[in-house]
Formats: sequence, C-alpha cells, structure tokens
Amino acid sequence: MKKSKQLPDYPKITEFHGHECLGTAIGYRVGEMAIEKLSTKKAVDEEFLAIVENNSCSVDAIQVVTGCTMGKGNLIFKDYGKQVYTFLNRNTGNAIKISLKLDLETINPHFHEARMKAFSSKADEADKKEFEKQKDVLNRKILEMPGEELFKMEKVEMEPPEKARIYQTIKCKECGDLFSEHRARVKDGKIVCIPCYEN
Ligand SMILES: [Zn+2]
Ligand SMILES: [Zn+2]
Repeated sequence: MKKSKQLPDYPKITEFHGHECLGTAIGYRVGEMAIEKLSTKKAVDEEFLAIVENNSCSVDAIQVVTGCTMGKGNLIFKDYGKQVYTFLNRNTGNAIKISLKLDLETINPHFHEARMKAFSSKADEADKKEFEKQKDVLNRKILEMPGEELFKMEKVEMEPPEKARIYQTIKCKECGDLFSEHRARVKDGKIVCIPCYEN
C-alpha cells in the first residue's frame, strides 16, 4: 500500500484500538481515502467532519487516521449498522460518501469456511491456525487492494452541521450528577437528566 505522508502508521491504530482486526483495516482504508479525496490534512480542529453509520472497530481507526473524534464533536454516529462513511471538508464544502462494496467472502473466499470450522465444537488446533491464517490474508488484502475495488465512492451535497457548541453544565435535581444543559428534561417541575427523566 502506498502511504500518504499525513497518514499515521498502522501500528498506531492497533495501539489505540487494542488489537488488529478486519475493522481497523477497513477503517484505515476509509480514512485514507477520505483524506486523499477531500485533500485535507488530518484534522487538528473541526474543519473535517465524519459521519459514521456503525460503531464497529473501523470507527476507532477512522478517529486515529482522520482526527475526527467523538470528543471534538466532528464525528457523528448514526446507529444504522451500515458500512457507510461520509466526510465533509468544511473549508471547501466538498463531501464524499464511502461505502464498503465487497463482502469479506468475496475478498477472501476461504475466510468463511475457515471461520465456521474454527468456531465449531469439533475445532482442533489446525482449524484455529487455518482461521488465523485466512484472517491475515483477508486483512492484508483489505490493506493492499485498490480503494476503488473495495469501496463505492460518491460525491454528495451536504449542509455542514452546526459546529460543536459549548453548553452550560447543570446539576440534576434528582441524582445530583452534573450534565450538559441541552440534555435537560423537566420532570414534576424539576430539571433532571435523561436517565432520571426516564425512570
Ligand atoms: Zn477490533
Ligand atoms: Zn439525574
């Protein structure tokens, strides 16, 4: 894989995420494409924005590669369980949507069978070894395949969402936890947090 200058080394992602997996390989490629296609530097502030439609391992890699993070508010999570990622460069207004188009079986036809065997009740050491091997093959293919083969990519029009705002912190009248005012609810005339409101 040809590595762009701004991209962090792959081990950095493993370090952040805790293990190396298919998800981190996918997320690495997604982040790499987003940076290349939107010609943005790794975001140091909020000029770059990501909308991720799943919360799998790939999202950790995307946070490391693109600098779009949950904490900075420029990573928006939509709970659709989809391998779809949208990125916006606020400075240029350009946005792209990247969707995984190959399933794992197409990328490595031996992967599925090896996985079935390794997780069956009759699995022996050889089956587990074979699974690890096929997983490595799959990983390497994901990291090395041309991005266009792995993903569908389309330009999209999008309105930049509001930048992350600073909210006041208030205290829940029921449990006493401090929380952000924009999540406040009113219960029996008292200002409370969401869990207390829902109880
Ligand atoms: Zn993982
Ligand atoms: Zn509360």
